[in-house]
Amino acid sequence: MQSNLQPCLYCGLAMGRTEPVALCGACWAVVHDRCLQHAGRCSTVQCPGDPATMVPADVAVVVGARIATANAEPATCPACGAATDYGRLVPPARRLWMRMTPGIWFEAAQGGPVGAGRRSGWHVPAAGLPGRRCRACRALYLAGQPVDARRSQSGAVFPYCPQCSAPFTSGWFDLQRYGSGAVGFVPQAPPGSSELRGHRATPNRFATGAGRQSVARIAGQCCSRCLFSLVSGLPVP
Ligand SMILES: [Zn+2]
Ligand SMILES: [Zn+2]
Ligand SMILES: [Zn+2]
Ligand SMILES: [Zn+2]
Repeated sequence: MQSNLQPCLYCGLAMGRTEPVALCGACWAVVHDRCLQHAGRCSTVQCPGDPATMVPADVAVVVGARIATANAEPATCPACGAATDYGRLVPPARRLWMRMTPGIWFEAAQGGPVGAGRRSGWHVPAAGLPGRRCRACRALYLAGQPVDARRSQSGAVFPYCPQCSAPFTSGWFDLQRYGSGAVGFVPQAPPGSSELRGHRATPNRFATGAGRQSVARIAGQCCSRCLFSLVSGLPVP
């Protein structure tokens, strides 16, 4: 998401390659550092964050490290005591006729059309949701918390998109939209780690069959304009 930075939310101008930027660790907005100094606070409406200054190239690194850190626990499953793996939740294989890029369907919570496109849901190109899964009972953990489809939104909820200021829609990432009920989990080595011993990260081996994964949808927020997404307070890569 951060490889191509959105224009600065504060001044509307493009981000340069070298001018210092400020990254907010609460809403993940990126603005020029000079704009942060001018504004004195994060530019996102209702955001209590305290943005940090860095060079543009470090934004993706910092975001990736934060995601990995947030998903470093639990190393063992609180439910059954077995080891957990770091990896990504991915939707089932898409049907070829859909001719879409890999991603996840987002469904607005209010059920009615939202945003400029007047849609109730849309496809979000994404590599998948980082998290952990228990090797034994297959319980899922996102940002260290057990995933429960009945659980309401966790993390701050913003009225406007931190990246482009369009209305920020609350809703659900529907992991079963594109298939017959299977949700895949692909173990991966976390950035800068030697975890994943003895595992080959192939979707076929680790994708789960229908009914073996308890979670079908995950609460989050998504922008209908730029598709920036937050789940459990973390950006969806
Ligand atoms: Zn600016
Ligand atoms: Zn913020
Ligand atoms: Zn378990
Ligand atoms: Zn947006």
